[in-house]
Amino acid sequence: MKFADLHLHTQFSDGTFTPEELVERASNLGFSAIALTDHDTVEGCARAAVACAAANIEFISGTELTAEHADTEVHILAYFVDTQNQVLLTRIGEFQAVRQNRIREMVAALNKLGIPLQAESVFALANCKSPGRPHVARALVKEKLIGNLDEAFERYLKKGRPAWVPKTKMSALEAVELIHQAGGLAVMAHPGLNRSDDIIPALVAAGLDGIECFHTKHSTAMAERYLGIADKYHLLVTGGSDCHGFSKVKPLIGTVKLPYEHVQRLKDKVAERKAKTTNGPQ
Ligand code: AMP
Ligand code: ZN
Ligand code: FE
Ligand code: FE
Repeated sequence: MKFADLHLHTQFSDGTFTPEELVERASNLGFSAIALTDHDTVEGCARAAVACAAANIEFISGTELTAEHADTEVHILAYFVDTQNQVLLTRIGEFQAVRQNRIREMVAALNKLGIPLQAESVFALANCKSPGRPHVARALVKEKLIGNLDEAFERYLKKGRPAWVPKTKMSALEAVELIHQAGGLAVMAHPGLNRSDDIIPALVAAGLDGIECFHTKHSTAMAERYLGIADKYHLLVTGGSDCHGFSKVKPLIGTVKLPYEHVQRLKDKVAERKAKTTNGPQ
């Protein structure tokens, strides 16, 4: 049976694998298709596409946008976006700048607590345009300012902890629109993690295409719940491991195997939408 992983991160955001390393693992695990969904960037897609072509794996370009609706943080996955789309690139560029400023603010908060971390060491470690809290955690561990990554989140970086800094986010409705204008499909990421079921109808009304039912942190009961919601609102079903390489305890790729039929449905919807745009309204 063919299967896919549609939620993967690389060094272009807060994962630890290069696109090539990730594709090699996907190949060894027998994946037929993968999508790259680095946070607020599509930069890794070109290299992942080349590596996938060589490994005979179907590649889907994507990103994971940090958004909010009604004061709830929601991650919106984009699939099949045109990675050269200027409107998309400009807008995510603005959110990359937000991420970089936030690193400086988090480091300043740590300094206030007497922890001598420098923003430049976080940037050097991250070495990407889309840095995040995991990079701060890794820099703290690297400089022996904390024992491990979990402790860094628990003590400093988790929401409500002293070095946590809120992030300016895009509205979820804008995220859906932004993805659509770049030719992509918009999918609500890991709804089970955000306790955000009440915002689903508003996202559906805005044109949400799908919902991530299968995710490493979803229980079987959760997956079933979201399959039911997908059915109710006629949403496409996606799934992925949300692998960050060694940024988490161990690489998660391989823990979620989405049956390929769901990938085919995504492709059918993109093709259908493209045909409509090309032919114009009836
Ligand atoms: P950011 O985009 O900077 O807010 O960071 C989000 C990233 O941090 C995601 O990849 C999460 O998986 C990771 N993260 C969030 N909370 C924790 C936590 N308590 N422990 C480890 N990683 C976390
Ligand atoms: Zn991440
Ligand atoms: Fe996420
Ligand atoms: Fe993710």
